[in-house]
Amino acid sequence: MMQYITNYTKKRYITYFIITLIIFILPFVRINNNHFFLLDFINKKLNLFFISFDTQELYLMPFMLMLLFIGIFFITTLAGRIWCAWSCPQTIFRVIYRDLIQTKLLKIRKNINNKQKQYPRNFIKKIIAILIFYIISLIAISNFLWYFVPPEIFFSYLANLQEHLLLIGILLCVSLFLTLDVTWWAEKFCIYVCPYARIQSVMFDHNTMQVIYDEKRGGIIYKNKTKLYKKPLQGDCIGCEACVDICPTHIDIRKGMQLECINCLECADACSKVQNKLNRPSLIEWTSIDAMNSKTKIKFLRFKTIGYLIVLLIILALLILVGSKKENMLLNINRNSELYSINQKDGNLEITNAYTFLFQNTDNQAHEYYFEIETDEKLNSDIEILRPKKPFKLEPGAKTKKIIVLKAKNNLNSNTQKDIIVPIIIKAYAVDDNKIFVYRKSIFIYPKKSEK
Ligand code: SF4
Ligand code: SF4
Repeated sequence: MMQYITNYTKKRYITYFIITLIIFILPFVRINNNHFFLLDFINKKLNLFFISFDTQELYLMPFMLMLLFIGIFFITTLAGRIWCAWSCPQTIFRVIYRDLIQTKLLKIRKNINNKQKQYPRNFIKKIIAILIFYIISLIAISNFLWYFVPPEIFFSYLANLQEHLLLIGILLCVSLFLTLDVTWWAEKFCIYVCPYARIQSVMFDHNTMQVIYDEKRGGIIYKNKTKLYKKPLQGDCIGCEACVDICPTHIDIRKGMQLECINCLECADACSKVQNKLNRPSLIEWTSIDAMNSKTKIKFLRFKTIGYLIVLLIILALLILVGSKKENMLLNINRNSELYSINQKDGNLEITNAYTFLFQNTDNQAHEYYFEIETDEKLNSDIEILRPKKPFKLEPGAKTKKIIVLKAKNNLNSNTQKDIIVPIIIKAYAVDDNKIFVYRKSIFIYPKKSEK
């Protein structure tokens, strides 16, 4: 007799547990000293998929944002508000506060199957519930902050509170805000504040997965959206209202799709228990309008979803391609055209050009860097490095500014009217790792011959 009982709620709880565990553990996992995701504003560093990028390399961000937004469009078109019910932190926190703390632990609510009933005021217990949730909020917000301040630094900051009052202030205030949101705003946040709730309905089509009451089997309960018949006039719905009592957003799914529905499927579970006793499946299903009408399977592969999938794959491929071209050193060259001179030194002519090199070691290890100059052989130029004479060391993530002086012994320029500009290529490289090098284009100026 148990064959018709759906267990979406249990499956959701298991999903919450797995997601929470992953989100909690992930900041502690490091590969080559890099995190899975870390946007470190203090050290101007981005870690993505255990690869370290400098904030100057944030060219990956547009790809990430495109993936995020098109991913949301894709998932919503395919499976409706699956995010809201199965992974949204707001829903998870509400389950923890309402069902675990208020109902199971403190027994302020008597039954998780009735979320509409107001229970007698129990001021002390309510305060205890809020305090317990505030402690959970502190842990949750700390967990969130670890994606911006890695745990190893976060805990050292906590040990030194007085010097990191800003971080502590953010932690306490955001936790307080979260506590207010979950204990007071509750599902009103989903209904009135969440922007996703507003936009998702425009992405729905007749093949999108939704929570749907089967009017053909259950019977039409509402003459219109507001007028309720006292007794169901037809169909299998017995009017027990178990589906209404359990609904966390206080709606009646038998009215049809509503903005307030977070697709938690608790009503489907409740109805399945009622209908199972009558040896019938739930009147509320997680299906699409077309699938319910035609009693077939949901059509997941369709023009819109395939289109989104193709675009997602293209962006992912571009992200991998661009990410794989990551340079383990950064070099910016600033050159002032006035920075050249002709000198006579020990009877020899010396033409010098000066440059400002901005080096950054974006690798995880310290390296010694130097560079070499490449010119077109046909030009017969004799450019060499005057300064610095030796490689220099840079710690991981460190930046340095170096004045570089290049010199040539022969002036190739016999023209008295204008300077000759020779293109050069600068190859900067790590002396201790032949895989780390960058090429930059620049110029060397041979000044015009003096007419004297
Ligand atoms: S109508 Fe059903 S699926 Fe929608 S929020 Fe209420 S209980 Fe959840
Ligand atoms: S739980 Fe099922 S049978 Fe009961 S009122 Fe809701 S739809 Fe009708």
